[in-house]
Amino acid sequence: VKFVYDFTEGNKELKDLLGGKGANLAEMTNLGLPVPPGFTITTEACKVYLDSGEEPAALRDEVSAHLAALEEKMGKRLGQADNPLLVSVRSGAKFSMPGMMDTVLNIGLSDTSVQGLAAQAGDERFAWDSYRRLIQMFGKTVLGVDGDLFEEALEKAKQAKKVTVDTELEAADLKKLVTTFKKIVKKEAGRDFPQDPREQMDLAIKAVFDSWNGERAKLYRRQERIPHDLGTAVNVCSMVFGNLGPDSGTGVAFTRDPASGHQGVYGDYLQNAQGEDVVAGIRNTVPLAELEQIDKKSYDQLMRIMETLENHYKDLCDIEFTIERGQLWMLQTRVGKRTAGAAFRIATQLVDQGLIDEAEALTRVNGAQLAQLMFPRFDENAKVEQVGRGIAASPGAAVGKAVFDSYTAVKWSRSGEKVILIRRETNPDDLDGMIAAEGILTSRGGKTSHAAVVARGMGKTCVCGAEELEVDTKRRRMTVPGGHVVEEGDVISIDGSTGKVYLGEVPVVPSPVVEYFEGRMHAGAEDADELVEAVHRIMAFADRKRRLRVRANADNAEDALRARRFGAQGIGLCRTEHMFLGDRRELVERLILADTEAEREESLKELLPLQKQDFVELFEAMDGLPVTVRLLDPPLHEFLPDITELSVRVALAESRQEPHENELRLLQAVHRLHEQNPMLGLRGVRLGLVIPGLFTMQVRAIAEAAAARRAAKGDPRAEIMIPLVGTVQELEIVREEADKVIAEVEAASGTNLKLSIGTMIELPRAALTAGQIAEAAEFFSFGTNDLTQTVWGFSRDDVEASFFTAYLEKGIFGVSPFETIDKDGVGSLVAAAAKAGRATRPDLKLGVCGEHGGDPESVHFFHEVGLDYVSCSPFRIPVARLEAGRAAV
Ligand code: ADP
Ligand code: MG
Ligand code: MG
Repeated sequence: VKFVYDFTEGNKELKDLLGGKGANLAEMTNLGLPVPPGFTITTEACKVYLDSGEEPAALRDEVSAHLAALEEKMGKRLGQADNPLLVSVRSGAKFSMPGMMDTVLNIGLSDTSVQGLAAQAGDERFAWDSYRRLIQMFGKTVLGVDGDLFEEALEKAKQAKKVTVDTELEAADLKKLVTTFKKIVKKEAGRDFPQDPREQMDLAIKAVFDSWNGERAKLYRRQERIPHDLGTAVNVCSMVFGNLGPDSGTGVAFTRDPASGHQGVYGDYLQNAQGEDVVAGIRNTVPLAELEQIDKKSYDQLMRIMETLENHYKDLCDIEFTIERGQLWMLQTRVGKRTAGAAFRIATQLVDQGLIDEAEALTRVNGAQLAQLMFPRFDENAKVEQVGRGIAASPGAAVGKAVFDSYTAVKWSRSGEKVILIRRETNPDDLDGMIAAEGILTSRGGKTSHAAVVARGMGKTCVCGAEELEVDTKRRRMTVPGGHVVEEGDVISIDGSTGKVYLGEVPVVPSPVVEYFEGRMHAGAEDADELVEAVHRIMAFADRKRRLRVRANADNAEDALRARRFGAQGIGLCRTEHMFLGDRRELVERLILADTEAEREESLKELLPLQKQDFVELFEAMDGLPVTVRLLDPPLHEFLPDITELSVRVALAESRQEPHENELRLLQAVHRLHEQNPMLGLRGVRLGLVIPGLFTMQVRAIAEAAAARRAAKGDPRAEIMIPLVGTVQELEIVREEADKVIAEVEAASGTNLKLSIGTMIELPRAALTAGQIAEAAEFFSFGTNDLTQTVWGFSRDDVEASFFTAYLEKGIFGVSPFETIDKDGVGSLVAAAAKAGRATRPDLKLGVCGEHGGDPESVHFFHEVGLDYVSCSPFRIPVARLEAGRAAV
């Protein structure tokens, strides 16, 4: 295998092998853009190193060969005394992990070559500035020295000189600083800063490999669901210098606004600076547009390059560039992160520009983004006290108690508090706190600052660079203009869509996207906003493309109507247990306690018309669309009073010598019905089999409701679903009784009701004998919640709180199997049962109800295994529609 690729050898498709940064550096090189030459060490080399603890044997020679070729091309040797080649060693995994991995610049400088560099550039200050940066970065990331020690020394040097910014330090000051830095290294790392340039490079490469398994990198991967075994590539790139004076500088830019999607000039530029300076908020950057005044030639070239990149990648790109004495260099590009709203807008804009088609547009958005857009926003009409405004870095409306450090954010949020994390600026150490917080507020940094980038990636509300807010993290307080002080624990509200910061709790209102789905805002209307317009179009793309139908889980007419507005094509699960609560509980109690047949029949007779009315309303709301009604499922004791409460009542009555006949009977029943594992007890079809008349009453109610709707010229399409079936015999018995009742109602009403009867597949045995069960079922609905519980042997109510965190942390699964379907286990049962069922009955209808029906990744799986529909809660229907469309692309 080949472990090293020159930038001229790769391309953007090789992200697995070269990482995102390396693949795109190669792509830009091949596009003829000005990229400093270099090469990339593959992720394969990293994997070998991580697995075995040693670099692959061939790597050293390959690196030597590529380095020699690079030296040849540049006409200088790495670290050469009189004219040194310097390189950066940069990490770059397949997925960008902002701030997680480490980069070292200026490799090749030493006590001797720093002189050569100074002579060569004719600038001593520059050379020593580069050298102190190398020792600082190398010391921190390669040798593990606490970075603050260098920062403090730098701060002292500035104070001694009575200057505020690093550019005011002169060569002599920087020389002294180098000596100080070297001492810090020696003391903290127990070794000298290496003077051999190749040793510097090799150690840096290894450090990049190692940083893959740094704690923060691991945490970020867990959060973002990035697999842990991808490894990182390493890029060795010849240095260009933005710190060579005022005609040099470094910057970052987006080809369009990552928050709104609008085209324009978006970015930041910093003169006489290197690398990270732009995003670190060390000095104040200028907006990119000002580069036109500073260096028109480079600005024009940059604009042309940005256009080239957009047309080539057919997407928003973000870039890093450096200008060295008037010469522009491209150091990085990638398809840029964007807010959810911008993703929808950009996708439709690119369709309009003719750059991509509808199918491609669907790949540019996802259900998670749509879900995010369906969050509520702040009420514009609320009386608010605005105290500041920063940059709208990541949208959303967040309200919470002010906290000023990551630790407190985590601690408070664990105890159920909503918090806003306030920092001057964030760095990777704040990651835990950012995850825990409702929102993030910083007083420094722009759209490309750490806080902004990470928050956007997490879909978390963020306002950054709110400069008039004085954040004092030591004293845990923030002073707002006018002098008011926000203490730790005070409630504030931040709006990530406008950048506004408010005191106190601002009420929130629904999102325009939800208003649109609800039919209260229309696409195409004069005042419709751009976002609604874009969502409307993308949803149409998805609906045209998808094969999976989307139904709703809804138990009443109100939910059904909302589901319809959201695009539901029927009801996939109507639970009937809710219809047995409230003032009907007493009737159910009597049914359960009935001693005689007559008593039981009496209560069933009273329940029948009530049930029937429920269904009439539901069928009317869903007229013309299928409605799957599940017969009673939960254990009976759920309808009886709580055992302790009842015992107390009985005991009290006894001591007071009051009559308590009924309570006592009830208590006995509760005892009788008590189960150790109710989830595995008397429920579902088992109830129908042991309580005579219960299921037939429900079936009759459904049939009579359908007949009534027919009589009213409606178009009811009811489907009767039997829960918790484990064997075809259970289904056959229930079915036989149901068919009889239906025939009676049909005869009485003189209509063919076309009711179908099917079953849930939610027990492993049902899935394993699906071929037999299909003989008695016209449809299957996979109940993946119960199926997950029974396949894993997990009691959902217990395990999620008790040990799932540990499982997730240990990486046993990357995401809870209740959230995203476990494809290998539960999923393979679903696939096999679908196949076996269809083998028996080719027109068997297949669906899924349960949380997974609205989970993006699971929807793709259900599409792949050939189900006909997914069913989910009304609110998740748009997400399911979108993902079903994406799955079909
Ligand atoms: P990150 O992934 O954290 O952005 P990078 O590898 O892109 O890390 O590098 C960090 C900073 O150093 C960036 O601003 C980048 O533009 C700059 N940089 C990296 N390599 C070079 C180089 N060869 N010459 C000049 N600047 C560089
Ligand atoms: Mg970068
Ligand atoms: Mg179930």
